[in-house]
Amino acid sequence: MVSPVIAVDYEQPTLPYPGDAPSIDSDAPVCHTRHAWARVPPEPTAAERAALKDRIRRLLAERNAVMVSHYYVHPDLQDLAEETGGIVSDSLEMARFGRDHPARTLVVSGVRFMGETAKILSPDKRVLMPDLDATCSLDLGCPEAEFSAFCDQHPDRTVVVYANTSAAVKARADWLVTSSCALDVVRALTAQGQKILWAPDRHLGDYIRRETGADMVSWQGACIVHDEFKAIELELLMKQHPDAKVLVHPEAPADVIALADAVGSTSAILAAAQRLEASTFIVATDNGMLHKLRTLNPGKTFIEAPTAGNSATCKSCAHCPWMAMNGLADLARVLETGAGEIQVDPALGLRARVPIDRMLAFTAALKNGQPVGSIVSGIGAA
Ligand code: SF4
Repeated sequence: MVSPVIAVDYEQPTLPYPGDAPSIDSDAPVCHTRHAWARVPPEPTAAERAALKDRIRRLLAERNAVMVSHYYVHPDLQDLAEETGGIVSDSLEMARFGRDHPARTLVVSGVRFMGETAKILSPDKRVLMPDLDATCSLDLGCPEAEFSAFCDQHPDRTVVVYANTSAAVKARADWLVTSSCALDVVRALTAQGQKILWAPDRHLGDYIRRETGADMVSWQGACIVHDEFKAIELELLMKQHPDAKVLVHPEAPADVIALADAVGSTSAILAAAQRLEASTFIVATDNGMLHKLRTLNPGKTFIEAPTAGNSATCKSCAHCPWMAMNGLADLARVLETGAGEIQVDPALGLRARVPIDRMLAFTAALKNGQPVGSIVSGIGAA
């Protein structure tokens, strides 16, 4: 299938901080959201679903393959991953799981940067994706050449990039972070007196800056899904559900975050839903999360936080069009044929692996209660 290459139509955001990076060029080539929506697979019938799942189970065994699925993809791909010994998780755990699993083939259901990260961490494994054109507005909005020029303007800053970036952008970074470890990494760097260059999500960057007090300049990217959550609409919904707790992903705008009872990554949102004493939750992240939230909390009610009206780029549905491109039929096809294989230039992969390995070492140390100062010391601009 030919990849659509067309111009992005992002709204150009105002630059809130002197010295911050310009937002992306509106003529940058991307796979437009409406083309992504047009590529979303039709829902299989019950019989088709059962047959596809049987075929995938057989192929996974025959091809020595394991499924690695993100929380935002179709419930079929989440459930089948878990049923067959794979994982459904956030991007940090996806990276760890793929690296450590003995299978020779990883089938990544998510978006392209997730497949690339899996390949970078496991260069000897085959990494397949149901649709290689499934991408991310944050990745698209942070082209390597422009990002590299931005870094060159700030040689005194430690470069911290979010996982939602290309291999080339990762290769330019000192640190990679996901939303589940970003605060900890930046806090540790700030404690060492380091100044930060952050990319690409402006809302997550602002959130980290507010929480850590970091000296930070930011790239001005945004997630087209989380950017659409609206505080005014959310307040109206909260009035209708006064006992509900509000769970917000930090890629959402600051005024939405300000209304949250819990802010965090997809894993943190799952944990908060189990921890907080409430029977109803309003959730401001991709609605693919609702499947896992409802499965793990059968007695609780989860409501999508409201997105914008007619001007919404994500059809006001809080769902990522690129995540929605992943489907059972394509997953079976790539397992059968070997199509949809992620390729990363080996030399680029080696460079991009450095900040990823740092993140994994940092989070492993945190998890084991070990000090992280020595891990962040001497890395990046002093
Ligand atoms: S939900 Fe947002 S951040 Fe996640 S893949 Fe889609 S566009 Fe990217």
